[in-house]
Amino acid sequence: MHISFENVSYSYMIGSPFEKRALNHVDITIESKAFTTLVGSTGSGKSTLMQLINGLVLPTSGQVQCGSFRLHRKSKRKEVKPLRQKIGMVFQYPEHQLFGATVEEDMLFGPKHLGLDVERIRKRLPELLDVVGINKEVLSVSPFNLSGGQMRRVAIAGVLAADPEVLILDEPAAGLDPAGHRALLDVLKDWHDKHGLTTILVTHDMEDAARYADEVIVMGPAGKPVTSGVPAQVFREADLLADIGLASPPSARITRALQEAGWDIDNLLLEPEAL
Ligand code: ADP
Repeated sequence: MHISFENVSYSYMIGSPFEKRALNHVDITIESKAFTTLVGSTGSGKSTLMQLINGLVLPTSGQVQCGSFRLHRKSKRKEVKPLRQKIGMVFQYPEHQLFGATVEEDMLFGPKHLGLDVERIRKRLPELLDVVGINKEVLSVSPFNLSGGQMRRVAIAGVLAADPEVLILDEPAAGLDPAGHRALLDVLKDWHDKHGLTTILVTHDMEDAARYADEVIVMGPAGKPVTSGVPAQVFREADLLADIGLASPPSARITRALQEAGWDIDNLLLEPEAL
């Protein structure tokens, strides 16, 4: 799904003394089927941008075009509902949202709520658990008997079960050890590559952007992007990234991730001590 933000601003608590402008005249495009990473410091508006994509919040001004859906200040809830069926959101610590008596009940909750064909999806649950590296035996078990890492994988498999056209991942690997972080993002990248869905990964880990992204969008402190492009290009703007506290200079870790992802980094400006 092609997504574009057209001159979008968003403010919280309008009219109160606490009014806060989170996004300021944002124009960005997220290409259909691309794996896009959205990076930026805390408070730079990343979560707000993601919530605008599925109409959880509506623009204060401007519009968001998601496929054939146009979202603006006056969009109605019933107009937004069919869009929500197409968008899967994995929030931070998704395991905190598990509540079903069994893993199966939990994984079917989202699809049921969205009015999807639950029986068809029920048959696919073992395969979906397999994708995230969990044995299908857990389907009849309480999710609360699983380890934290298994719970997170089950919660993510539950989002994949609804077969979204757009997958939004807000720091899905937060709190995992480096090996678990990498393994989980590898699974999500493979899912993207296999199903060709539009994937947006929100992260403040620049190595994730280097390793997984087709496109990177960098949010700055003023509620708008400061740069965007393919990773190899964005990482050339070392000074700009340093100014907003992101990656300075591109480290050996990032260089290796770019190389492993197949980018040509010959012209990347590297500080010698970073190598
Ligand atoms: P990020 O995801 O990059 O950390 P957010 O989109 O959460 O950024 O926040 C952008 C700005 O909006 C921040 O200044 C934040 O404090 C403010 N903000 C976010 N959510 C709310 C809210 N519910 N009420 C008031 N201000 C908020």
